[in-house]
Amino acid sequence: MKIFNIIYRFLFPAVVVAVGCIVVGAYDDANTYMDQALRDCLVKYCDSRYRNEIINKYKSTTVLVSSKFSYDYGIEYHNNTLILKAKDKKTAEWLIDQYVRHLAYTDTHFTNCDLPPTIIDFGKTVHKNFDFIYREPHFSPNLKERYQPFSGASSVEEYWDLWGHNLYKELDIDTEKQQVICFTNDIFYNKVVKFLEEKSRSLRTGRIIIMPMDTMSACTCTECQKIGNKNQYATPAVMNMMDKLKERFSKTKYTFYTAAYHSTQQPPQKPPKYRLSGLLLSTSDLPKGIALDPQNDLEKDFIKTVQAWNNYADTLYVWDYAANYNDFLTPLPILYVLKKNLKFFRDNGISGVFLQGSGYDYSPFDDIKTFVATALMIDGQLDVDDLCSRYFTQFYPVSAKMMTDYYLSLEKNMEQREKKYDLHGDMKDAIDSYFCADDFFRFYENLGIILSENKMESNEKNRLEKLYSALSFTWLQLELYRQTGSYDITKINGKTLSITPDIQTVISRLSAYEHHGFRKYKEKGEREIKDYLDFWSLFAEK
Ligand SMILES: [Zn+2]
Repeated sequence: MKIFNIIYRFLFPAVVVAVGCIVVGAYDDANTYMDQALRDCLVKYCDSRYRNEIINKYKSTTVLVSSKFSYDYGIEYHNNTLILKAKDKKTAEWLIDQYVRHLAYTDTHFTNCDLPPTIIDFGKTVHKNFDFIYREPHFSPNLKERYQPFSGASSVEEYWDLWGHNLYKELDIDTEKQQVICFTNDIFYNKVVKFLEEKSRSLRTGRIIIMPMDTMSACTCTECQKIGNKNQYATPAVMNMMDKLKERFSKTKYTFYTAAYHSTQQPPQKPPKYRLSGLLLSTSDLPKGIALDPQNDLEKDFIKTVQAWNNYADTLYVWDYAANYNDFLTPLPILYVLKKNLKFFRDNGISGVFLQGSGYDYSPFDDIKTFVATALMIDGQLDVDDLCSRYFTQFYPVSAKMMTDYYLSLEKNMEQREKKYDLHGDMKDAIDSYFCADDFFRFYENLGIILSENKMESNEKNRLEKLYSALSFTWLQLELYRQTGSYDITKINGKTLSITPDIQTVISRLSAYEHHGFRKYKEKGEREIKDYLDFWSLFAEK
C-alpha cells in the first residue's frame, strides 16, 4: 500500500495530497506535520557537505503530531516508509532527535552529534506512553540549555513559571528572618496577586507551585487557626489561599500546584473549593538507597497520604532525593534503586518525578545519573547496566571500561547491602551503606594512571580531570579519618595533620576545583571547598 493511501485511509479523514512522501494539503486541525523539523534535525547533525544527499536519503520518513493519538509516541513502518508519531510537538522534537541520533550510529555523514545515546529501538513498530509526564533529574547537566529539550527530561527552568521557594525571592521576603508565612494574611496574598498579574505577560507554561517555608512550623494566628491550622499543620491556610488564587486567576493560563512537605504533608481535613492542578509529594520520610516495599510501615503511610491527596489534586508528582547533601563529592550510586522505586511510584498513581540531586552543583557521575535517570523515567523497563555502558562508551571512549566497572560496582554494593543512606550523612554512613575505601583508592589511582598516559581527546580528558579533582575530596576525607578518627575537619579536637608529599599532591589537585568548574562540597553551611582546604593548612603540623 502506498504511503498516500495509508495516510488517506487511516490517518486523516480530510483530503490529502502527497508529493513523493512529503505530505501537503488540508487535514484535520488536530494533526500537524513535523517534516520540516525532521529535515532541520538531519541538517543540524550532518556534515554540511552532505546536506542535500542526506535530506534526499531520508525523505520517505514522515512525522505526525496529533493529540488524538492514544499513546505518547509511536514508530510505524509501512513498506519502506517510516512514520514517527507523537502526541505533542515537544515529544515530536524529542522523537525526531532520537531518530537522527540513531541514524548517526551507522551513517558516517552525521558528524555533529554529541548528545547522549538514544533509548528507543527504531527497528520495530512501537506505540508507547511515557512512564511519567514530568521527568526531572535535578542535576547540573540537565540544567544546561544544551541538554534541553532533546534529552526527554523536564527541568525546573522550563516546566514551571514559578518554582517553590522562589516565590519568596521574587517577593523580596527574607526567608532567614521570616520562618513562617501566614497564608491568610491579605498583605501576603495581595503581593502574590500583584506578582502573578505582572508575570502573566511573559508566561511559558503557566504552572505555578506555591509552598510554605522549608520548615515544620505553621502559622497559628487567629485567622489561620480558625480555618484549621495547628502546630506543624499549615495545609488548611495554604489550600485556602490556593482556592482564592484559583478563583482570582480563573480566566488565565495559570495552573496551581503546591507541595506536601513538612507542615503541608497531611491533606486538608475539609475539602477545598477547587482541586489543585497538581501536588508535589515529598518522599523525605521514606528510606533512601533501598527499594521501597509496600508492606513496610513508612511506605504504607506514604501510600495512604498519596491516596488522601488524590482527592484534591489532578496530578500527583513526587519530590524524591538522590544526593547526600552533606557531601556532594563522594560518589553515590542511585540508579538501581531508582529503577525499582520509579515502579513503586507508578504503581501508586504518581505521574511525575522531581529527583533532587546536587542541583546546579557538580557531583561525580552526575552526567551518567542524569542520562540514565531520564531514560528510566521515560521507560522503566530499560536496563541500567546497558544504559551506563553505552553512555560511558560514547563519552569516555578510552576509560569506558574503568568508569563502567567502578560506577556499577557502587550500584551493586548499594543493592546487595540493602542499607539505607542518610541524606545528610558523612563518610561513615557511606562506608556503612555502600562505599568501599579499597575500591575507591584503586579507582582513584587508575584515574591518575589513565590521565598520565595522555591517550584521550580533550573532552574526555577534561571530564576525567574534573572527576579526579573532585574525588580528591573523598581521598582527603579518608586520610583525615585515618589520622584523626574523625570525618569532620572542624572537630578534630586539637589534633594536627601530617602532610606528606602524597597528601600535598592530592590537596593541590582538589585546589584546582575552580579551574574545573565546581565550588561546593555540600549544600548548606560552610560550602566552599576553599574553607575545607583552609582547615587542612590550619591543622597542618608546623
Ligand atoms: Zn496566619
